[in-house]
Amino acid sequence: MIVVLLGAPGAGKGTQAKRMGSAMGVKHFSTGDLLRQAVESGTELGVRAAEYMESGTLVPDDIMLALAGELLDRKGPGVGVILDGFPRTLPQAKGLDQLLEDRGETIGLVILLDIEEDDAVERLSSRVSCPECGSVHNLATDLPMTTGLCDACGGTLVRRSDDIPEKIEHRFEQYQSETHPTIEYYRSQGRLDTVDAGRPIHEVQKAIEEILHRKSGPQVAG
Ligand SMILES: [Zn+2]
Repeated sequence: MIVVLLGAPGAGKGTQAKRMGSAMGVKHFSTGDLLRQAVESGTELGVRAAEYMESGTLVPDDIMLALAGELLDRKGPGVGVILDGFPRTLPQAKGLDQLLEDRGETIGLVILLDIEEDDAVERLSSRVSCPECGSVHNLATDLPMTTGLCDACGGTLVRRSDDIPEKIEHRFEQYQSETHPTIEYYRSQGRLDTVDAGRPIHEVQKAIEEILHRKSGPQVAG
């Protein structure tokens, strides 16, 4: 099944995508993963993406869609995938539908992790991550076993440079203006499931599992 996970910064997309991926036995890709892979591959697309990333501006829709197309070709037809943070804009959402249609596939599930701005800011302010493997910990709710070190690989945990209050606020505003139309696009077509993401991680996970179960369960005719 192809799953799209939407949500503001701090809603817990990465954490939930990872857990869903393990539960479903499928890979998950964040926008960051897609960009990193492209840059590392050194393709023309990767070079263009790197220019935007280095200048700190958002990568344009056409590049993101081309990267998504490459991912869909790489994974092969009928293989499930979880997309975390993509599509971000309305053109990306429409473009993704077209990419899938061209390949005879369709999105199975769109989940919005819904969170209040205050809760998101609080979460992001206490978030640390591992530059080595991408694992995320929260100093308020999800402490690592050894202070300052990644549970998964032992790397040194760092605070992301954009997890400071002024930047969080800016990211939230950017999210609101760009992703709101995307959310409405899926909602108006009856394709959106919303989960209250202000709750503890395991409760959010449970709510997502219930939706997955409902969607992937036996289909009753009529
Ligand atoms: Zn690590």
